[in-house]
Amino acid sequence: MSSEALTTIPLTSLPRLSQGKVRDLFALPDDSKLLFVTSDRISAYDVILKNGISSKGLILTLLSAKWFEVLSSKVPGLKHHFLSLTPPPAPSVVTPDERQMLRGRSMTVRRLKIFPIEAIVRGYVTGSAWSEYEKSQTIHGLPQPAGLLCCQRLPQPIYTPSTKAELGDKDLNITPDQARAIVGEKYASRIEELVLACYKAGVAYAEERGILIADTKFELGLDEETDEIYLVDEVLTPDSSRFWSKADYQVGRQQDSFDKQVLRDWLTSNGLKGKPDVLLPPEVVEKTKARYMEAYEKLTDKTLEEALKSLE
Ligand code: ATP
Ligand code: MG
Repeated sequence: MSSEALTTIPLTSLPRLSQGKVRDLFALPDDSKLLFVTSDRISAYDVILKNGISSKGLILTLLSAKWFEVLSSKVPGLKHHFLSLTPPPAPSVVTPDERQMLRGRSMTVRRLKIFPIEAIVRGYVTGSAWSEYEKSQTIHGLPQPAGLLCCQRLPQPIYTPSTKAELGDKDLNITPDQARAIVGEKYASRIEELVLACYKAGVAYAEERGILIADTKFELGLDEETDEIYLVDEVLTPDSSRFWSKADYQVGRQQDSFDKQVLRDWLTSNGLKGKPDVLLPPEVVEKTKARYMEAYEKLTDKTLEEALKSLE
């Protein structure tokens, strides 16, 4: 496991289709598939930091793969995009060095048409939902019971979609009805039902391991040939979710985020919140990495090293 953070993915043998905040997508010889590669880039307050967190890409990839397996066994009828952790063959498709670099940080996935919403599910009232609730007793426009405290568990998890903004823009919270208009009547209910089922299954699994998943963002795709909906992207990772420590949880106050708190605290106390090109000091990098590792180990019952070995 290298201690160098990989902020750019050194892969030139395959055409790069897109680059997001954290991932690069590559075309594969079979054009019904994609290579989904996770870098060590990290963002906070919507900006990408200059240095990465080494091994973060491995953690997010292997954690998502674990969740696809767990959720498949718990959510009847669930379809997902994940096909394999095995990198493409060398030297026919990628070079031997590229193949080594991809090990543990790449997934071969089904190439699907992505629904242009973020299918957020919330189990607790926090973040932008708490701000909205304080003002209007609603969350994404949905009326809520009176008297909820900051970070309180909701009576039921709720589906609270947002728009999916282009890189650099902000996602906007919308109501389920607005999401229905975006994804189409035909798919809206199935999407809602699927993500609520995935969230509930994930929450139960994580809670047994000491982690509360306060909220999370799922993405969905459509196989246009079969008209079936698939769970895509990363799943229930610390980047796509708010993880809290169950042992430290207390209703009525803000909670520390399991992974990015060290980073956020350092940015705010140094007046660097939301600023571009910030270079983190080594101790902030190390502490953040330790938090990602801890979440990984708690959720998979394995160390990252053990997981990487089992890939060989
Ligand atoms: P953020 O997750 O912070 O919003 P981002 O959306 O810019 O960042 P990344 O996570 O870096 O993106 O990159 C993943 C991209 O790949 C997303 O745009 C996602 O919609 C897309 N994607 C995920 N799964 C598939 C798939 N199976 N087929 C096609 N595109 C996919
Ligand atoms: Mg993403």
